Amino acid sequence: MKYFAGEQKLKLHAKQRFFRNVEPVCENVYFFTGFGGSNMIALIGDDSCVLIDALNGKEVAQAALTELRKLTDKPVSTIIYTHHSHFDHTSGAGVFADADTEIIGHSYKTAVYGYSELLGDINRKRGMRQFGSSLTEEESICVGIGIWNNPYSTRAILPPNRLISEDHTTIHRAGYEIHLIAAPGETDDQMFVWIPQLQILCCGDNYYESWPNLYAIRGSQYRDISSWIVSLEKMLEYPAEILLPGHTGIIRGNSKIHETLSNYHDAIQYILTETLKGINQGMTADQLAETISLPEPFSSLPYLQEYYGTVKGTIRAIFTGYLGWFDGNPTHLDRLPARDYSRNLIRMMGGEEAVLEEISQSLRKEQYQWTAELCDILLDSGSDSSFTKEMKANALVGLGRLQTSANSRHYYLTCAKELLQEAGISSEGLLERSW
Ligand SMILES: [Zn+2]
Repeated sequence: MKYFAGEQKLKLHAKQRFFRNVEPVCENVYFFTGFGGSNMIALIGDDSCVLIDALNGKEVAQAALTELRKLTDKPVSTIIYTHHSHFDHTSGAGVFADADTEIIGHSYKTAVYGYSELLGDINRKRGMRQFGSSLTEEESICVGIGIWNNPYSTRAILPPNRLISEDHTTIHRAGYEIHLIAAPGETDDQMFVWIPQLQILCCGDNYYESWPNLYAIRGSQYRDISSWIVSLEKMLEYPAEILLPGHTGIIRGNSKIHETLSNYHDAIQYILTETLKGINQGMTADQLAETISLPEPFSSLPYLQEYYGTVKGTIRAIFTGYLGWFDGNPTHLDRLPARDYSRNLIRMMGGEEAVLEEISQSLRKEQYQWTAELCDILLDSGSDSSFTKEMKANALVGLGRLQTSANSRHYYLTCAKELLQEAGISSEGLLERSW
């Protein structure tokens, strides 16, 4: 099989990092990893247990509950969601909770856009592409920050029955003093959990071992990166000895935690400020994505590699978040319809046959992006050729295998499958299509 550096790096990362484990954190505290794509924390208290997050499906939650019952028979009195807006932290709740279980979440800092429910179909479709739900395990590899989510797992989501809105709330449950601190970042309803007597900080998805998903390619409201930076600053104020993230592994020791969170903070801040400076000089999102990159020492740090989010995706998101879609070039204020544009282009290129010839040649030269763009010119022109769809699918497989980011890989490979299906071609042996 041909060697793709991105694919190999992601495979190695998955092999070294993601496996099922119930890790004792300290006395009576356990960190459940590798049960689905996200983590769960169990605090065994004097009369009951408190869970922080509840995994991403019924089946994996049942497996985790079996393990929890080997440690204690105390009931789960409280589930705290670091964020309830993402299914991968709430989908096992129904397995752990009974009718009396308190389920705590934080309200949104910014309202969800009105009428968002009208986007249900496209959100589902793009979400499935990003998470690789229709891919095999070999095609998918992992989700970048955890093991591959079994797309057929059942959801047992329970919404919070106690929604807090304060920036800082202190509760006492099962003998623990627990601080809940609002920290908008990956999501707007994010909070982190601080347990002073154990010096444990549970940071949800505002830190995990990867360049963060400052923009989700499935599409979402703009994630305010400046708020994420402030949330990291808030986390740095706590003298944590143990950091338990919503995904990926535990970090122990205050100096290690401080160094990691500081680098994470500084790297995100660097990309945000450099992008804003570039925008201010009149650069477009394409120009910014081409010229700005993460400098050393950040680019070599293992926890800032692009297994999940990407730096380029972040830069583009910042442009759109601050200035909107218009790149400033008046030619782009009201562009020619794609069909007219591509038909003109094909005529100038010498007709469809000439474009098809270029497609075959560029694919042979492994110029996958150029191949996909040429295929789009034909498809935009109204051509419904199954050959063009197959060639684009092949290019997308090549692009997918070049990625380190699981999200990007999944998106390319899923769309390749969709194109093959449209063309009536089997997607068996999908990975071999990258010539
Ligand atoms: Zn998550």
